[in-house]
Amino acid sequence: MQYQIPKGLFDILPISKEDWKTSDKWQYLESVIRDLCKNYNYEEIRTPIFEKTELFVRGVGSSSDIVSKELYTFLDKANRSMTLRPEGTASLMRTFIENNLSENRKTSKFYYMGPMFRYDRQQLGRYRQFHQFGIEVIGQKSYEIDAEIIDMLLELFKRLEIKNTKLVLNSIGDFESRENYKKALKDFIHPKFDSLSQDSKLRFEHNPLRILDSKEAIDQEIISEAPSILDFLTSDARNHFENLRNLLEKLNIKYEVNPRLVRGLDYYDDTVFEIISEKVGAQNSLGGGGRYNSLLKNLNGPDLPGVGFAIGMERVIQTMIAQQCYFPQKTGPFILIIPITQEAKNFSIVLTKELRNHKISAEIDLNSKKIQKSLQFANEINAQNALIIGDDELKMKKAQIKDLITREQKEINFDELKTFIKNKYYNLKNLKE
Ligand code: AMP
Repeated sequence: MQYQIPKGLFDILPISKEDWKTSDKWQYLESVIRDLCKNYNYEEIRTPIFEKTELFVRGVGSSSDIVSKELYTFLDKANRSMTLRPEGTASLMRTFIENNLSENRKTSKFYYMGPMFRYDRQQLGRYRQFHQFGIEVIGQKSYEIDAEIIDMLLELFKRLEIKNTKLVLNSIGDFESRENYKKALKDFIHPKFDSLSQDSKLRFEHNPLRILDSKEAIDQEIISEAPSILDFLTSDARNHFENLRNLLEKLNIKYEVNPRLVRGLDYYDDTVFEIISEKVGAQNSLGGGGRYNSLLKNLNGPDLPGVGFAIGMERVIQTMIAQQCYFPQKTGPFILIIPITQEAKNFSIVLTKELRNHKISAEIDLNSKKIQKSLQFANEINAQNALIIGDDELKMKKAQIKDLITREQKEINFDELKTFIKNKYYNLKNLKE
Protein backbone atom coordinates (compact mmCIF):
# COMPACT_ATOMS: atom_id res chain seq x y z
CA MET A 1 0.00 0.00 0.00
CA GLN A 2 1.24 3.46 -0.85
CA TYR A 3 0.52 6.06 1.79
CA GLN A 4 -1.19 9.20 0.61
CA ILE A 5 -1.54 12.60 2.18
CA PRO A 6 -5.02 13.20 3.69
CA LYS A 7 -7.50 15.20 1.63
CA GLY A 8 -7.16 18.96 1.75
CA LEU A 9 -3.51 18.91 2.89
CA PHE A 10 -0.36 19.51 0.87
CA ASP A 11 3.39 19.25 1.19
CA ILE A 12 5.76 22.14 0.67
CA LEU A 13 8.75 20.77 -1.23
CA PRO A 14 12.12 21.94 -2.61
CA ILE A 15 10.77 21.24 -6.09
CA SER A 16 7.12 20.80 -6.96
CA LYS A 17 5.07 20.57 -10.14
CA GLU A 18 2.89 23.24 -8.60
CA ASP A 19 5.04 26.32 -8.12
CA TRP A 20 3.23 27.63 -5.05
CA LYS A 21 4.20 24.51 -3.13
CA THR A 22 7.95 25.17 -3.33
CA SER A 23 9.68 25.99 -0.07
CA ASP A 24 11.83 28.85 -1.42
CA LYS A 25 8.66 30.79 -2.32
CA TRP A 26 7.32 30.32 1.20
CA GLN A 27 10.62 31.40 2.71
CA TYR A 28 10.56 34.56 0.61
CA LEU A 29 7.01 35.45 1.70
CA GLU A 30 7.91 34.75 5.33
CA SER A 31 10.98 36.98 5.12
CA VAL A 32 9.03 39.89 3.59
CA ILE A 33 6.44 39.51 6.37
CA ARG A 34 9.07 39.47 9.12
CA ASP A 35 10.74 42.61 7.72
CA LEU A 36 7.39 44.36 7.51
CA CYS A 37 6.57 43.48 11.13
CA LYS A 38 9.91 44.85 12.22
CA ASN A 39 9.22 48.11 10.33
CA TYR A 40 5.83 48.49 12.00
CA ASN A 41 7.12 47.35 15.42
CA TYR A 42 5.14 44.13 15.77
CA GLU A 43 6.56 41.27 17.82
CA GLU A 44 6.07 37.59 17.22
CA ILE A 45 4.00 35.26 19.38
CA ARG A 46 3.99 31.52 18.76
CA THR A 47 1.17 29.61 20.35
CA PRO A 48 0.62 25.83 20.29
CA ILE A 49 -1.09 24.12 17.38
CA PHE A 50 -3.90 22.83 19.61
CA GLU A 51 -5.78 24.22 22.57
CA LYS A 52 -8.70 23.22 24.77
CA THR A 53 -11.82 23.15 22.62
CA GLU A 54 -13.74 25.58 24.80
CA LEU A 55 -11.26 28.38 23.99
CA PHE A 56 -12.37 28.38 20.35
CA VAL A 57 -16.04 27.88 21.16
CA ARG A 58 -15.87 30.93 23.41
CA GLY A 59 -13.30 32.91 21.47
CA VAL A 60 -14.41 32.36 17.88
CA GLY A 61 -18.09 31.95 18.69
CA SER A 62 -20.35 28.92 18.64
CA SER A 63 -22.54 30.26 15.84
CA SER A 64 -19.65 30.78 13.42
CA ASP A 65 -19.23 28.23 10.62
CA ILE A 66 -15.71 27.62 11.84
CA VAL A 67 -16.88 26.35 15.22
CA SER A 68 -20.18 24.82 14.24
CA LYS A 69 -18.92 22.89 11.21
CA GLU A 70 -15.19 23.03 10.68
CA LEU A 71 -13.27 22.19 13.86
CA TYR A 72 -10.76 19.37 14.09
CA THR A 73 -11.61 18.20 17.59
CA PHE A 74 -10.30 15.12 19.39
CA LEU A 75 -10.22 13.64 22.87
CA ASP A 76 -6.79 13.23 24.42
CA LYS A 77 -5.91 10.17 26.49
CA ALA A 78 -7.43 11.74 29.60
CA ASN A 79 -10.68 12.35 27.72
CA ARG A 80 -10.20 16.10 27.48
CA SER A 81 -11.53 17.74 24.35
CA MET A 82 -8.79 19.41 22.32
CA THR A 83 -8.98 21.25 19.01
CA LEU A 84 -6.45 22.07 16.31
CA ARG A 85 -6.46 25.86 16.04
CA PRO A 86 -8.75 27.10 13.26
CA GLU A 87 -7.43 30.70 13.48
CA GLY A 88 -4.89 32.67 15.47
CA THR A 89 -6.73 35.30 17.47
CA ALA A 90 -8.30 33.20 20.24
CA SER A 91 -4.97 31.55 21.15
CA LEU A 92 -3.22 34.90 21.09
CA MET A 93 -5.77 36.36 23.49
CA ARG A 94 -5.45 33.30 25.74
CA THR A 95 -1.70 33.70 26.01
CA PHE A 96 -2.00 37.48 26.43
CA ILE A 97 -4.27 36.95 29.44
CA GLU A 98 -2.40 33.98 30.87
CA ASN A 99 0.97 35.75 30.73
CA ASN A 100 -0.35 39.09 31.97
CA LEU A 101 1.04 40.84 28.93
CA SER A 102 -1.25 43.81 29.56
CA GLU A 103 1.07 44.83 32.37
CA ASN A 104 3.72 45.75 29.86
CA ARG A 105 2.72 48.53 27.50
CA LYS A 106 5.74 47.90 25.35
CA THR A 107 4.26 44.67 24.08
CA SER A 108 0.84 45.28 22.64
CA LYS A 109 1.48 44.76 18.93
CA PHE A 110 1.84 41.14 17.98
CA TYR A 111 2.10 38.98 14.92
CA TYR A 112 1.84 35.26 14.26
CA MET A 113 2.38 33.01 11.32
CA GLY A 114 1.64 29.33 10.95
CA PRO A 115 -0.73 26.50 10.08
CA MET A 116 -4.45 26.61 10.86
CA PHE A 117 -6.94 23.76 10.51
CA ARG A 118 -10.50 23.83 9.25
CA TYR A 119 -12.61 20.99 7.97
CA ASP A 120 -13.52 23.02 4.88
CA ARG A 121 -14.82 21.64 1.60
CA GLN A 122 -11.69 20.98 -0.43
CA GLN A 123 -11.24 23.17 -3.52
CA LEU A 124 -8.62 25.36 -5.14
CA GLY A 125 -7.72 28.08 -2.62
CA ARG A 126 -9.33 26.19 0.28
CA TYR A 127 -7.41 23.65 2.30
CA ARG A 128 -7.84 21.79 5.56
CA GLN A 129 -4.42 22.80 6.76
CA PHE A 130 -3.57 26.27 5.55
CA HIS A 131 -1.31 29.06 6.77
CA GLN A 132 -2.14 32.46 8.08
CA PHE A 133 -0.11 35.51 8.89
CA GLY A 134 -1.95 37.76 11.28
CA ILE A 135 -1.44 40.69 13.61
CA GLU A 136 -3.25 41.93 16.69
CA VAL A 137 -3.00 45.27 18.48
CA ILE A 138 -4.33 45.24 22.02
CA GLY A 139 -5.28 48.19 24.18
CA GLN A 140 -5.96 50.92 21.63
CA LYS A 141 -9.46 51.95 20.78
CA SER A 142 -8.77 54.76 18.35
CA TYR A 143 -9.59 54.67 14.67
CA GLU A 144 -5.97 55.68 13.97
CA ILE A 145 -4.75 52.21 14.81
CA ASP A 146 -7.41 50.71 12.51
CA ALA A 147 -5.89 52.83 9.75
CA GLU A 148 -2.37 51.74 10.68
CA ILE A 149 -3.13 48.06 10.31
CA ILE A 150 -4.96 48.59 7.03
CA ASP A 151 -1.98 50.55 5.75
CA MET A 152 0.34 47.77 6.93
CA LEU A 153 -1.64 45.14 5.06
CA LEU A 154 -1.64 47.19 1.86
CA GLU A 155 2.08 47.87 2.27
CA LEU A 156 2.64 44.11 2.44
CA PHE A 157 0.85 43.61 -0.86
CA LYS A 158 2.83 46.48 -2.36
CA ARG A 159 6.12 44.92 -1.28
CA LEU A 160 5.00 41.61 -2.74
CA GLU A 161 4.05 43.41 -6.00
CA ILE A 162 0.46 42.16 -5.81
CA LYS A 163 -1.73 44.33 -7.99
CA ASN A 164 -5.48 44.85 -8.39
CA THR A 165 -6.44 44.43 -4.77
CA LYS A 166 -9.55 46.04 -3.41
CA LEU A 167 -10.09 47.12 0.18
CA VAL A 168 -13.69 46.60 1.25
CA LEU A 169 -14.68 48.36 4.43
CA ASN A 170 -17.66 48.42 6.75
CA SER A 171 -18.64 49.19 10.29
CA ILE A 172 -20.86 46.84 12.23
CA GLY A 173 -21.02 49.30 15.09
CA ASP A 174 -21.09 48.64 18.80
CA PHE A 175 -23.45 46.34 20.71
CA GLU A 176 -26.26 48.89 20.77
CA SER A 177 -25.99 49.61 17.03
CA ARG A 178 -26.13 45.91 16.29
CA GLU A 179 -29.10 45.24 18.58
CA ASN A 180 -31.09 47.97 16.81
CA TYR A 181 -30.02 46.76 13.42
CA LYS A 182 -30.74 43.10 14.17
CA LYS A 183 -34.29 44.03 15.04
CA ALA A 184 -34.75 45.98 11.81
CA LEU A 185 -33.13 43.22 9.77
CA LYS A 186 -35.35 40.54 11.30
CA ASP A 187 -38.45 42.66 10.67
CA PHE A 188 -37.34 43.00 7.06
CA ILE A 189 -36.56 39.30 6.53
CA HIS A 190 -39.49 37.90 8.53
CA PRO A 191 -42.08 37.96 5.69
CA LYS A 192 -39.55 36.15 3.43
CA PHE A 193 -38.41 33.65 6.07
CA ASP A 194 -39.73 30.58 4.24
CA SER A 195 -37.63 31.35 1.17
CA LEU A 196 -34.33 31.53 3.12
CA SER A 197 -31.71 28.80 2.72
CA GLN A 198 -31.61 26.17 5.46
CA ASP A 199 -28.46 27.67 7.04
CA SER A 200 -29.91 31.16 7.06
CA LYS A 201 -33.12 29.95 8.68
CA LEU A 202 -30.97 28.68 11.54
CA ARG A 203 -29.11 31.99 11.74
CA PHE A 204 -32.29 34.04 11.80
CA GLU A 205 -32.97 33.77 15.53
CA HIS A 206 -29.50 33.98 17.08
CA ASN A 207 -27.26 35.65 14.55
CA PRO A 208 -29.26 37.29 11.77
CA LEU A 209 -26.27 39.43 10.72
CA ARG A 210 -24.62 36.30 9.38
CA ILE A 211 -27.40 36.01 6.81
CA LEU A 212 -25.73 38.99 5.10
CA ASP A 213 -22.67 36.78 4.72
CA SER A 214 -24.52 33.97 2.94
CA LYS A 215 -23.23 32.92 -0.47
CA GLU A 216 -26.57 31.26 -1.39
CA ALA A 217 -28.22 32.98 -4.36
CA ILE A 218 -31.65 32.86 -2.75
CA ASP A 219 -30.38 34.60 0.41
CA GLN A 220 -28.46 37.13 -1.64
CA GLU A 221 -31.60 38.06 -3.49
CA ILE A 222 -33.55 38.57 -0.27
CA ILE A 223 -30.89 40.66 1.43
CA SER A 224 -30.16 42.80 -1.62
CA GLU A 225 -32.97 45.10 -0.48
CA ALA A 226 -32.23 44.82 3.25
CA PRO A 227 -31.68 47.95 5.37
CA SER A 228 -28.06 49.07 5.77
CA ILE A 229 -26.32 48.69 9.12
CA LEU A 230 -24.71 52.09 8.55
CA ASP A 231 -28.12 53.71 9.17
CA PHE A 232 -28.23 52.16 12.63
CA LEU A 233 -24.86 53.17 14.05
CA THR A 234 -24.85 54.98 17.38
CA SER A 235 -23.15 58.38 17.29
CA ASP A 236 -19.94 56.92 18.81
CA ALA A 237 -19.82 54.16 16.22
CA ARG A 238 -20.62 56.60 13.42
CA ASN A 239 -17.81 58.93 14.55
CA HIS A 240 -15.32 56.08 14.69
CA PHE A 241 -16.20 55.04 11.15
CA GLU A 242 -16.23 58.56 9.72
CA ASN A 243 -12.90 59.41 11.33
CA LEU A 244 -11.40 56.24 9.94
CA ARG A 245 -12.68 56.98 6.45
CA ASN A 246 -11.31 60.53 6.59
CA LEU A 247 -7.94 59.30 7.74
CA LEU A 248 -7.77 56.65 5.01
CA GLU A 249 -8.52 59.33 2.46
CA LYS A 250 -5.75 61.50 3.90
CA LEU A 251 -3.38 58.57 3.62
CA ASN A 252 -4.48 58.11 0.03
CA ILE A 253 -5.84 54.65 0.71
CA LYS A 254 -8.66 53.70 -1.63
CA TYR A 255 -11.56 51.66 -0.31
CA GLU A 256 -15.08 50.68 -1.09
CA VAL A 257 -17.79 50.62 1.59
CA ASN A 258 -19.94 47.49 1.59
CA PRO A 259 -22.61 47.64 4.30
CA ARG A 260 -23.20 43.90 3.90
CA LEU A 261 -19.66 42.94 4.87
CA VAL A 262 -19.92 41.29 8.31
CA ARG A 263 -17.15 38.63 8.18
CA GLY A 264 -17.49 35.08 9.38
CA LEU A 265 -16.31 35.28 12.96
CA ASP A 266 -18.51 36.26 15.86
CA TYR A 267 -16.25 38.59 17.77
CA TYR A 268 -16.06 41.74 15.68
CA ASP A 269 -17.43 45.21 16.32
CA ASP A 270 -16.99 48.60 14.64
CA THR A 271 -14.47 48.31 11.82
CA VAL A 272 -14.44 45.24 9.59
CA PHE A 273 -12.55 44.95 6.32
CA GLU A 274 -11.51 42.52 3.68
CA ILE A 275 -8.93 42.56 0.92
CA ILE A 276 -10.11 40.98 -2.26
CA SER A 277 -8.13 40.19 -5.35
CA GLU A 278 -8.38 38.26 -8.57
CA LYS A 279 -9.90 34.84 -8.03
CA VAL A 280 -7.96 31.79 -6.90
CA GLY A 281 -10.46 29.09 -7.90
CA ALA A 282 -13.75 30.32 -6.52
CA GLN A 283 -12.02 32.37 -3.80
CA ASN A 284 -11.15 36.02 -4.00
CA SER A 285 -10.48 36.99 -0.38
CA LEU A 286 -6.80 37.34 0.47
CA GLY A 287 -7.50 38.29 4.03
CA GLY A 288 -9.45 40.47 6.35
CA GLY A 289 -9.82 41.72 9.83
CA GLY A 290 -11.53 44.03 12.17
CA ARG A 291 -11.95 45.39 15.64
CA TYR A 292 -12.99 43.36 18.66
CA ASN A 293 -13.58 45.47 21.73
CA SER A 294 -15.04 42.83 24.02
CA LEU A 295 -13.21 39.64 23.08
CA LEU A 296 -10.59 39.82 25.83
CA LYS A 297 -13.24 40.52 28.45
CA ASN A 298 -15.40 37.66 27.15
CA LEU A 299 -12.43 35.36 27.65
CA ASN A 300 -12.23 36.54 31.30
CA GLY A 301 -9.31 38.83 30.56
CA PRO A 302 -8.82 42.57 31.04
CA ASP A 303 -11.35 44.94 29.50
CA LEU A 304 -9.12 45.99 26.60
CA PRO A 305 -10.02 46.53 22.96
CA GLY A 306 -8.24 44.83 20.10
CA VAL A 307 -7.95 45.06 16.37
CA GLY A 308 -6.24 42.79 13.87
CA PHE A 309 -6.20 41.02 10.55
CA ALA A 310 -5.23 37.68 9.08
CA ILE A 311 -4.30 36.72 5.55
CA GLY A 312 -4.17 33.33 3.86
CA MET A 313 -0.59 32.68 2.78
CA GLU A 314 -1.51 30.04 0.15
CA ARG A 315 -3.72 32.49 -1.68
CA VAL A 316 -1.09 35.21 -1.46
CA ILE A 317 1.55 32.98 -3.06
CA GLN A 318 -0.91 31.71 -5.66
CA THR A 319 -1.86 35.29 -6.56
CA MET A 320 1.80 36.30 -6.78
CA ILE A 321 2.50 33.46 -9.18
CA ALA A 322 -0.58 34.27 -11.27
CA GLN A 323 0.54 37.91 -11.47
CA GLN A 324 4.17 36.98 -12.15
CA CYS A 325 5.38 38.92 -9.13
CA TYR A 326 9.03 38.91 -8.15
CA PHE A 327 10.48 35.90 -6.34
CA PRO A 328 14.21 35.68 -5.71
CA GLN A 329 16.12 33.32 -7.96
CA LYS A 330 16.76 30.03 -6.24
CA THR A 331 20.49 29.68 -5.60
CA GLY A 332 22.43 26.48 -5.07
CA PRO A 333 25.65 25.94 -3.13
CA PHE A 334 28.52 28.33 -3.78
CA ILE A 335 30.85 25.45 -4.55
CA LEU A 336 30.60 21.78 -5.39
CA ILE A 337 33.72 19.79 -4.58
CA ILE A 338 34.21 16.73 -6.75
CA PRO A 339 36.71 14.17 -5.44
CA ILE A 340 37.64 11.50 -7.96
CA THR A 341 39.48 8.98 -5.75
CA GLN A 342 39.18 7.79 -2.16
CA GLU A 343 42.25 9.78 -1.16
CA ALA A 344 40.85 12.90 -2.82
CA LYS A 345 37.65 12.28 -0.95
CA ASN A 346 39.43 12.30 2.42
CA PHE A 347 41.05 15.62 1.53
CA SER A 348 37.80 17.04 0.16
CA ILE A 349 35.69 16.14 3.19
CA VAL A 350 37.99 18.19 5.41
CA LEU A 351 38.01 21.08 2.92
CA THR A 352 34.20 21.06 2.65
CA LYS A 353 33.83 21.07 6.41
CA GLU A 354 36.22 24.01 6.75
CA LEU A 355 34.38 26.04 4.11
CA ARG A 356 31.03 25.31 5.76
CA ASN A 357 32.49 26.36 9.10
CA HIS A 358 33.23 29.69 7.42
CA LYS A 359 29.53 29.92 6.52
CA ILE A 360 30.18 29.22 2.85
CA SER A 361 27.55 26.95 1.34
CA ALA A 362 29.55 24.02 0.08
CA GLU A 363 28.55 20.61 -1.23
CA ILE A 364 30.65 17.54 -1.87
CA ASP A 365 29.79 14.93 -4.47
CA LEU A 366 30.42 11.75 -2.50
CA ASN A 367 29.17 9.57 -5.34
CA SER A 368 31.32 10.98 -8.07
CA LYS A 369 32.35 8.38 -10.66
CA LYS A 370 32.70 10.34 -13.88
CA ILE A 371 33.63 14.02 -14.02
CA GLN A 372 31.01 14.63 -16.70
CA LYS A 373 28.25 13.20 -14.46
CA SER A 374 29.44 15.32 -11.52
CA LEU A 375 29.41 18.49 -13.60
CA GLN A 376 25.88 17.62 -14.66
CA PHE A 377 25.02 17.25 -10.97
CA ALA A 378 26.60 20.67 -10.31
CA ASN A 379 24.27 22.08 -12.92
CA GLU A 380 21.22 20.41 -11.45
CA ILE A 381 21.85 21.78 -7.96
CA ASN A 382 22.72 25.24 -9.36
CA ALA A 383 26.23 25.20 -7.91
CA GLN A 384 28.12 28.38 -8.77
CA ASN A 385 31.61 26.87 -8.78
CA ALA A 386 33.11 23.42 -9.10
CA LEU A 387 36.42 22.11 -7.82
CA ILE A 388 37.66 18.77 -9.16
CA ILE A 389 40.24 16.92 -7.09
CA GLY A 390 41.93 13.69 -8.21
CA ASP A 391 45.25 11.99 -7.55
CA ASP A 392 47.14 14.36 -9.89
CA GLU A 393 45.83 17.39 -8.04
CA LEU A 394 46.81 15.88 -4.71
CA LYS A 395 50.31 15.17 -6.05
CA MET A 396 50.80 18.65 -7.59
CA LYS A 397 49.04 20.33 -4.65
CA LYS A 398 46.97 22.47 -6.99
CA ALA A 399 43.55 22.26 -8.62
CA GLN A 400 41.28 24.00 -11.14
CA ILE A 401 38.32 26.02 -9.91
CA LYS A 402 35.62 26.28 -12.53
CA ASP A 403 33.22 29.20 -12.32
CA LEU A 404 30.06 27.62 -13.69
CA ILE A 405 28.41 30.94 -14.42
CA THR A 406 31.22 32.75 -16.29
CA ARG A 407 32.79 29.44 -17.43
CA GLU A 408 36.24 30.75 -16.35
CA GLN A 409 38.81 28.30 -14.97
CA LYS A 410 41.61 29.14 -12.60
CA GLU A 411 44.41 27.06 -11.22
CA ILE A 412 45.00 27.54 -7.52
CA ASN A 413 47.68 26.14 -5.20
CA PHE A 414 46.31 24.21 -2.26
CA ASP A 415 47.80 26.58 0.29
CA GLU A 416 45.84 29.44 -1.29
CA LEU A 417 42.71 27.44 -1.96
CA LYS A 418 40.72 28.33 1.14
CA THR A 419 41.63 32.00 0.97
CA PHE A 420 40.75 32.14 -2.72
CA ILE A 421 37.34 30.54 -2.20
CA LYS A 422 36.61 32.66 0.86
CA ASN A 423 37.52 35.89 -0.93
CA LYS A 424 35.47 35.00 -3.96
CA TYR A 425 32.49 34.15 -1.79
CA TYR A 426 32.62 37.24 0.39
CA ASN A 427 33.21 39.50 -2.61
CA LEU A 428 30.15 38.06 -4.26
CA LYS A 429 28.04 38.42 -1.17
CA ASN A 430 29.55 41.78 -0.40
CA LEU A 431 29.92 40.58 3.14
CA LYS A 432 32.59 40.79 5.74
CA GLU A 433 33.80 37.51 7.08
P1 AMP B 1 -10.69 34.19 8.17
O1 AMP B 1 -9.86 33.78 9.36
O2 AMP B 1 -11.81 33.21 7.89
O3 AMP B 1 -11.11 35.61 8.20
O4 AMP B 1 -9.75 34.03 6.89
C1 AMP B 1 -8.71 34.91 6.60
C2 AMP B 1 -8.03 34.45 5.34
O5 AMP B 1 -7.49 33.15 5.53
C3 AMP B 1 -8.96 34.29 4.15
O6 AMP B 1 -9.15 35.51 3.50
C4 AMP B 1 -8.19 33.32 3.30
O7 AMP B 1 -7.20 33.97 2.55
C5 AMP B 1 -7.54 32.42 4.32
N1 AMP B 1 -8.32 31.19 4.51
C6 AMP B 1 -9.37 30.96 5.32
N2 AMP B 1 -9.78 29.69 5.24
C7 AMP B 1 -8.94 29.08 4.36
C8 AMP B 1 -8.80 27.75 3.86
N3 AMP B 1 -9.61 26.77 4.25
N4 AMP B 1 -7.83 27.50 2.96
C9 AMP B 1 -6.98 28.47 2.56
N5 AMP B 1 -7.04 29.73 3.01
C10 AMP B 1 -7.99 30.04 3.90
